[in-house]
Formats: sequence, C-alpha cells, structure tokens
Amino acid sequence: MAMALPKTITATARAIAAGELTSRTATEAALGRVERDNASLGALLHVDAQGALARADQIDSQRRAGQPLGRLGGVPITLKDNISLVGMPMTAGSRILAGYRPPFDATVAARVSAAGAIVIGKCNLDEFAMGSSNETSAFGPVRNPHDLDRVPGGSSGGSAVAVAAGFGFGSLGSDTGGSIRLPAALCGVVGLKPTYGRVSRYGVVAFASSLDQVGPLATTSRDAARLLGVIAGPCRHDSTCADHSVPDFEAALGRESLAGIRVGVAREHLDGADGLDSAMSRRVRERLERLRDLGADLVDVELPHSHASIAAYYLIATAEASANLARYDGVRFGHRSAAHGGDLEQLIARSRGEGFGREVKRRIMLGTYALSSGYYDAYYRKACQVRRLVHDDFVAAFSHCDLLAGPVSPVTAWRLAEKTGDPLAMYLMDVFTTAVNLAGLPALSMPMPVSAGEMPAGLHLIGRAFDETTLLGVADCLERSDREPGEATP
Ligand code: GLN
Repeated sequence: MAMALPKTITATARAIAAGELTSRTATEAALGRVERDNASLGALLHVDAQGALARADQIDSQRRAGQPLGRLGGVPITLKDNISLVGMPMTAGSRILAGYRPPFDATVAARVSAAGAIVIGKCNLDEFAMGSSNETSAFGPVRNPHDLDRVPGGSSGGSAVAVAAGFGFGSLGSDTGGSIRLPAALCGVVGLKPTYGRVSRYGVVAFASSLDQVGPLATTSRDAARLLGVIAGPCRHDSTCADHSVPDFEAALGRESLAGIRVGVAREHLDGADGLDSAMSRRVRERLERLRDLGADLVDVELPHSHASIAAYYLIATAEASANLARYDGVRFGHRSAAHGGDLEQLIARSRGEGFGREVKRRIMLGTYALSSGYYDAYYRKACQVRRLVHDDFVAAFSHCDLLAGPVSPVTAWRLAEKTGDPLAMYLMDVFTTAVNLAGLPALSMPMPVSAGEMPAGLHLIGRAFDETTLLGVADCLERSDREPGEATP
C-alpha cells in the first residue's frame, strides 16, 4: 500500500530529505488536487505543472547525489498573484495586467525557490489586493472549500483556499489591512502578517507601501515559522526592509506551557466591539480559557482609538494606492486600449477606464480626493495623526502584556454577493485587522476549534514589533494542546 503523504511543509521536507518520499510524488499529488478541484474553487489563476514537475525531478536528483536540499526542499507551494516570479504571468487580479510577465523575481519568490520550494501556481486575489472577500478579482471569485456558496475572505483568498484544499502545503500572501489573516480565518488555516520591515516587498505589486507586508499561509504554526524564516531578512532592493537579524523562529516552538506569558485582552476587541457575532465572541472566550489553562495570565488592556482605525486605514491606504496605481498607464506595460483617436491623455484615460475594475476605481478616486489640495489636512493628515494614536495605544498595552488575543473577524464566512453592493459593510470586516498594519506590528490568525455546523474562524494574536517568535510560540503551544493525546504531528 502506498504510504500516506505527510500533511505539512516540515514533514514533507523531512521525508524528501530522508529519501522516504520524492518531490515528484508530493508535487503530483498537489497537482492532482488542483486538477480535480480548482475549477470549482477558483483559487489558482495559473498553474505550471510541467515546470513544477521538472523542478521536482531536479530536487530528487539533487537528493540522490547527496546534495543539501534547503528548508523547503521539494515542497510544493503557491504564491499570491501579486508576487513576481519569472516564468509565470502576473495579473494582480486585474485586467490591466493581463498578459504581463514579470522580467525578474520578487525577493520572496527568489528566496523560496533558493530554499528548494516547488512553486506550482499563482493564486487568485482581489484586484490589486483591494477587498475582503476575493470577489473584486477580474478573473472571478474564489469559493470557500468549507461551503462553496460562501466567500473565502480576501484579499489573499486564493492563497488560503490553496492551502486548505491541498494545492501545495503553503502559500505566500500579502497583508495591507488584513489580507492574510482574514482569509486564513475564514478558511481555517494559519496566516501570519510579519512586522512591517521584516520581509522585502521588492517585486510585490504595491498597494499601500507604508502598510503592505508579505507573509505565509500554512496549515500549522510550525510551517508558518518555516516559511517566514525563509523569506525574512534584509534586502538591498527594498530600503524599507529592516536590517534586523532574523531569529530562528522554529527554535522557539515546542513549549509545553505558557507560564509567564501575559496575554492582553482588549475590551474593544470583545465585549465592547460593535458587530461582533455572539458565537464568535464565545469561541474567542473558549480560546482565552485554554490559554489560561496552559499557564498564561490574562490581562485586561485598552485600545481606546481602535474605533478610528478603519477610517484612518481607508484614507491612508487609498491615498497611497492612488499614487502607486498611477504607473498603470497602458503605455509602458499592461492593457492598452485598442480604440483609436485622441491624444496621449485620452489613451491613458481609456486604458485605465477599461483596465481597472469598480473597486479599484473607487479607491483611486477616494485616495486622490483625500490628497487633493484643500482636503489634505482634513483627511490625509488627520488620518496620519490617528495612525500615531493607534500605534501609541499598542505601545501602552504592551507595557502590561506580551501579546494580545482576540477575534480576526466579526463574523464567519458570509455568502457570495452578500456584501458586494455595500462597500462600507465590506470594509467593516477589517475592524480588528487594520490597526495592526497602521502600527506596523506582527499578527497571526490561527484556526479556532470548529463544532458541528460551524464555519472556521480565526483567533488573532498580535505581538510587539519584530516579536513574531512569541506569536508563533504561543500559537504552536495552543495548536498542540488541541491534538488528541497520542495523536501524531501531522
Ligand atoms: N480588506 C482590506 C482592503 O480592502 C485589506 C486588503 C489587504 O490587506 N490587502 O483594503
């Protein structure tokens, strides 16, 4: 009988390195699932089966030759389609980039490849990563594998679904206001947004440059730690990428108790949170009890400006997006209008009018307005001041605790089309996530237990700047405490 395939990145890499499994077998299994399920899920926009298998064979022969394989040696993974990778197209979910093929690798793509990963495909996303449900993609929505009538969350919906559906063992997404954590929560996988500056953004399509950060999605915290360790660290092409040395994230895992750890609970994220579903609040409380059982101390903290973070985020993110998206002019690359006549300005206007979708246009208009003379002080500057207050709230909270815990989203996965007519309702799905980006902090979403009839939901752990280690250590301990006694590590 064929051996059951391992389910995680770390177990797969180990089995391949030990010669118990070939990368070809692991890659064929992932491609088989893509073949079977991608048409109904819509998670991958491009699949490179041939390239992936050729690369897998190369890893297998490297192993036979006794060469070291790297931390992701032979493991199939996927990338969000706003990350440049030579050899595959990149759309960022937009018609305006249809046909574009990046001429260079993003630093994160180069790093996973150098670590031996097999990139099997690129994941669907909200157009330019603008959205919370993965319904703004120009290439169709992604569906939640736990209920095909529901959204997977966005904007890294394709990445979360790829991991949940076994299209590879991990994925890289990007998070500007929650885009890794929200889909991870709604699809029941682990998603980590690193500290701003921890991971290079070189070669990643810019949405809001002071907020964007690339991070891993995976099935366990250990796998997320492995991926983060591979992609993190200084990059000479990105001056916003910090010079900090990268800790060994995996070395901090495996603790049996959380004694000495202070977990902050903000009432603004629980009792005092508007729109928080009561079942969600119950599930978070159960997790807090479990953290306490594991030895952690629960401390009440305050985040008095959290109510303002959504408004500040949607001003700052749209302002930065309106500047970043100016480069799509139909002249240098991307979609160019085929209509004739008129001058250069009209060509640019037509190309942009045809190439961008509704939500992207809305953001460009909002951002342009917020930055325009006469309104700058009232909107953009004010939002930057609020951003500082939100940041200072976290600094004050972290003088009483080592990390914060709460819900990632106010509700579980909603139905497709339920919120597309009401942008504000959609934006409110980010109530708990955007403050983290404004403050530049690391945060992760990990699945909470699911009872019969329930959809997945995420526990949000927020840490001090550059302290992903504490988040991963707590998440890993909590995760293992949920396994049945004697149950093997997947
Ligand atoms: N949902 C948020 C938005 O639409 C966050 C997106 C993101 O993190 N990329 O702006």
